[in-house]
Amino acid sequence: MKAFEKNIRKVEPYVPGEQPQHKVIKLNTNENPYPPAPGVKEALMNMDVDRMRLYPDPTAGNLVHTLAEYYGVKDEQVFVGVGSDDVLAMCFLTFFNSDKPILFPDITYSFYKVWAELYRIPYECPALDDNFRIVKEDYYKENGGVIFPNPNAPTSIYEDLDFIEDILKHNQDVIVIVDEAYIDFAGKSAIELIDKYENLIVVQTFSKARSMAGMRIGYAISNPILIKYLNDAKYSFNSYTMNQTSLICGVEAVKDKAYFEEQVQKIVDTREWAKEELRALGFEFPDSKSNFIFVTHPKFSAKKLFEALKKANIYVRFLGGARIQEYLRISVGTREEMEMLISFLKEYMKENKGEK
Ligand code: PMP
Repeated sequence: MKAFEKNIRKVEPYVPGEQPQHKVIKLNTNENPYPPAPGVKEALMNMDVDRMRLYPDPTAGNLVHTLAEYYGVKDEQVFVGVGSDDVLAMCFLTFFNSDKPILFPDITYSFYKVWAELYRIPYECPALDDNFRIVKEDYYKENGGVIFPNPNAPTSIYEDLDFIEDILKHNQDVIVIVDEAYIDFAGKSAIELIDKYENLIVVQTFSKARSMAGMRIGYAISNPILIKYLNDAKYSFNSYTMNQTSLICGVEAVKDKAYFEEQVQKIVDTREWAKEELRALGFEFPDSKSNFIFVTHPKFSAKKLFEALKKANIYVRFLGGARIQEYLRISVGTREEMEMLISFLKEYMKENKGEK
């Protein structure tokens, strides 16, 4: 090791899912199989390219206002960023500055650990129970902050608002972040609790239910005081996080509520159909309330299945790691895509006896 290397900040980075550049059935990164709202395309076509000379609005005012109206909150209660990854990273930087460990589940979005390491934030990871449920009592102890997704990823399990409130009640002296990347496929959002709990931050994204992973838009909703702290950190880091195109397209996506609800319903219907089919093939999985299903099979190795699927140009996610070595995360695609997945699995199971 060269002497100068000892002062380099070394991190073990997050590994994103593959983005193959050839055509595949892509069920590996929880994207939406449907296009964004028609208004997004129209806005793009009508975009004034000359505006690209100028910096975008640093406050992202239009987008912030559109989201605030949509959720019935004030503009000062909304913070936007480059995907919820950016928003969450900013939250870690801003709110998790205690010597006490922050808490998040042992099986959860693997980026939390990466940010904690990057920012040198101490952390502890209480284990999910045997059914992959968060044990709320594990979050009653002293800590430097709490974060978890609801529904959790990759387990797909949604907990109701009583559960969230219980965690909030036991953690009034620290910031609690609920990462709702998949909430639109699940149930009630914790946004309705923000007036009641001044330490609560809810983070959502345009990447899943709004079909805009490629535009990178995420947001946090909280009270004006916490949003101000987030903005202070943002303006100390990069004033122009959101690009002009995303700002314009994001507004259009939020405006079309009917289209949004229709696409979400289609995905939920396909998910429920896929669950039945997978169950009939002997797969086991927690009851998904997300746009993905976290499956294991008593006879077939997850890794081998993953590889066989990939060979057939069907991409799913094998995360590996403790307790989930035998699991695959399968995003819910179109009904046709899921039918192709199921018929591949049927064939595979006929031809292979199973390794276990
Ligand atoms: N939170 C969770 C739980 C996720 O699964 C993801 C998707 N990888 C994100 C946040 C980040 O999504 P994005 O940055 O696309 O908004």
